[in-house]
Amino acid sequence: MKVSQLFTKTTKTLPADEVSKNAQLLIQAGYVYKVMAGVYAYTPLGLKVVENIKQIVREEMNAIGGQELIMSSLQKRSTWEETGRWDDEVVDIWFKSKLKDGTDVGFGWSHEEAIIEMMKQYISSYKDLPVYVYQFQTKLRNELRAKSGIMRGREFIMKDMYSMSLDAEQHDTFYDGCIDAYKRVYDRLGIGKDTYVTFASGGAFTQFSHEFQTVCDAGEDIIYLHREKNLAVNEEVLDDDNLAKLGIKREELEQVKSAEVGNIFNFGIQKSQDTKFEFTNETGERQNVYLGSYGIGITRVMGVIVEKFADERGLVWPKEVAPAIVYLARLGNAPEVVAAADELYKELTEKNVTVLYDDRDVRPGEKFADADLIGIPYRVVISDKTVQAGTLEVKARTAESAEHISSTELMQRLGA
Ligand code: ATP
Ligand code: MG
Repeated sequence: MKVSQLFTKTTKTLPADEVSKNAQLLIQAGYVYKVMAGVYAYTPLGLKVVENIKQIVREEMNAIGGQELIMSSLQKRSTWEETGRWDDEVVDIWFKSKLKDGTDVGFGWSHEEAIIEMMKQYISSYKDLPVYVYQFQTKLRNELRAKSGIMRGREFIMKDMYSMSLDAEQHDTFYDGCIDAYKRVYDRLGIGKDTYVTFASGGAFTQFSHEFQTVCDAGEDIIYLHREKNLAVNEEVLDDDNLAKLGIKREELEQVKSAEVGNIFNFGIQKSQDTKFEFTNETGERQNVYLGSYGIGITRVMGVIVEKFADERGLVWPKEVAPAIVYLARLGNAPEVVAAADELYKELTEKNVTVLYDDRDVRPGEKFADADLIGIPYRVVISDKTVQAGTLEVKARTAESAEHISSTELMQRLGA
């Protein structure tokens, strides 16, 4: 990637009509374009970040047996009527429309009912279970308020996984394994140490659902942390009964603001009873499928990462998420400088180190400011001086000052 070829431009001025820090910075640095409140387009830089987040999630979901698919965005009314969730009184975030012949359709805000309907076609016997499927899908929700930038979109990307299991044991094993997989996901995303498994309402079967809440001032939720036990309780289930069940006391808890970056639900067989989702067991009897539903807000996570790591100079991306690892700033157009920079660009690329190469004819100060705003983990400068000295000027995005090292040493640091 060459900066001269990016159609996006960085801006020094804050975008008008955008109140959230994450969207302001992402717009200024050229990662997102605001279409309207709660609706954003992702530019090539933004898409790289989204794809990096998805890839981490994909690898961890595959590792626990998930199979990727993609459901449809258009939803049938009948699919959702069965459980009563077509009703706007029950679900107040539906976007709905009509086909030309007047048939009602809805835009998927979730795919729980849809996946059950689809999987009924494929699952009939105990031999067909378990099945774990997931997708990355644009969800549409007519949210009342959209003031948190990409952390609360009216259109946003979610990873949703669904588990279908034979019995309680198989189901619980997967559910617990998924909690561990989620922990690995948030660790790799760089927010693991501030992300807490949080007891919340909504588990049909277990009375709790598990949220993954990241401590964050820009978050819209309030949770109560138990730092010693490394867990938290959502406001909505904070009462003496629940605390007793969890073996914790109110005075041990610390109230913090947080953002829900994931939520998993253990439905047991309740949802499959509601929808008559059954299979035939080994002795020929009909049994209900055990169901679980597991979400991660892909674009919300991106917003949370921005909020948590950005500094006064701009974005700061963790390595696994960054759109490139190296920002290569070439200062000046002297032939030997151009040759050295082109050569390093080629070498890094060949070694699979992603590079954003600032090959523009602009002042050094502008390149440094953009390197910081765009938030790439390492800035490498090649100039007359570095060429003469036979070294490279390298600065980590979060470091105070630069160092002069050889290209061999740079490769070592980058693990290339
Ligand atoms: P919230 O309480 O924040 O409205 P939710 O409980 O309705 O979220 P779920 O249906 O559990 O959300 O969706 C799974 C995940 O999708 C959430 O944990 C969150 O990370 C993400 N998510 C939900 N709503 C949005 C949104 N409007 N914009 C971006 N991400 C979202
Ligand atoms: Mg939720």
